[in-house]
Amino acid sequence: MAEKRDYYEVLGVDRNASADEIKKAYRKKAIQYHPDKNPGDKEAEEKFKEAAEAYDVLSDPQKKARYDQYGHAGMEGAGGFSGGGFSMDDIFSHFGDIFGGFGFGGFGGGGTRGGRRVHRGSDIRIRVKLSLQEIAHGVEKKVKINKTIPCPTCNGRGADSEADIQTCNRCHGTGVITSVRQTFLGQMQTQEACPDCGGEGRKIVRPCHNCNGSGLVKSSEEISFKIPAGVAEGMQLTVRGKGNAGRNNGVSGDLLVVIEEEEHPHLIREGNNLIYTLYLSIPDAALGCEAHVPGVDGNLKVKIEPGTQPGKMLRLRGKGLPDINGYGSGDLLVYVQVYVPTKLDKDDRAAFEKMKEKENFKPSEDGEDKGFFERVRKMFG
Ligand SMILES: [Zn+2]
Ligand SMILES: [Zn+2]
Repeated sequence: MAEKRDYYEVLGVDRNASADEIKKAYRKKAIQYHPDKNPGDKEAEEKFKEAAEAYDVLSDPQKKARYDQYGHAGMEGAGGFSGGGFSMDDIFSHFGDIFGGFGFGGFGGGGTRGGRRVHRGSDIRIRVKLSLQEIAHGVEKKVKINKTIPCPTCNGRGADSEADIQTCNRCHGTGVITSVRQTFLGQMQTQEACPDCGGEGRKIVRPCHNCNGSGLVKSSEEISFKIPAGVAEGMQLTVRGKGNAGRNNGVSGDLLVVIEEEEHPHLIREGNNLIYTLYLSIPDAALGCEAHVPGVDGNLKVKIEPGTQPGKMLRLRGKGLPDINGYGSGDLLVYVQVYVPTKLDKDDRAAFEKMKEKENFKPSEDGEDKGFFERVRKMFG
């Protein structure tokens, strides 16, 4: 494959172009290289695809940020067009709206293929609940989805054989009616979907008994997809082409996976950082100890210095969650608290009474945790 051109260069915009400028630039290129305008021109088709790929990345803030940072290398495995293997149908189904009002592909959802209407199946949205550990490492999920698929009896054609399908007489199979009108601006050519066949270009004379001519049946499919490490509640991943099938062997919709986070019994997530509140006994805080902190992958040992004050924040670097864009990992912040017993028996009482007498147990300047507010501000600010 030839070296890929810079996406900004492809669309002819500079790196500071606004979303609107990018969209306008893409529309211009798409119209210039549109296959309806350049029938049979391979070079135009390549240019058309190249522009769509550039727009796919630059119109998506997340992909754009990654591309700006890493260039084409950052796009590998990012899904979508940038992963290679995309077709003209993909372009029409995803960016069809951009051609609206330009005289082609403007009617109905899904755009056109050789003039005839191409149906795009609907998207399916599912929710997937992930544990913190799955989020930390990324995970492959296998989910059974109820969806429409092309009818196996007629292979999605809607009829048992080609003989049961007639080409529409009115539009001669093109699915489009072109009319020429005289206006004060001169001759205007307009195209609209053929009303006889609804833009299909054909009529089914004897529909398939299994799908009643729709070419679609309900089924279920087990779909596997990878969830990258570092995702967060509410994020939506797109598994292209795994949604409902489109009519007449059209384009399938997408499977949209919405991420939900399972609550962890001990850890709280703050962006890529994790927060744990560690309770020490009074003697452990005074004498120092080795404490255990429940990390994502099991217990972590933490050394508690003698004389540790409540409110101290310990930072376990890199023990948080990985950044979804690959910018390292967050930290596990251990917020130290000291447990004060609420019920005292006679011996406990005596022990505390004894401490009370001692000068050393009275709060002193050196013991005071002056940095506390500063640290809290840093952590949440
Ligand atoms: Zn027709
Ligand atoms: Zn069928």
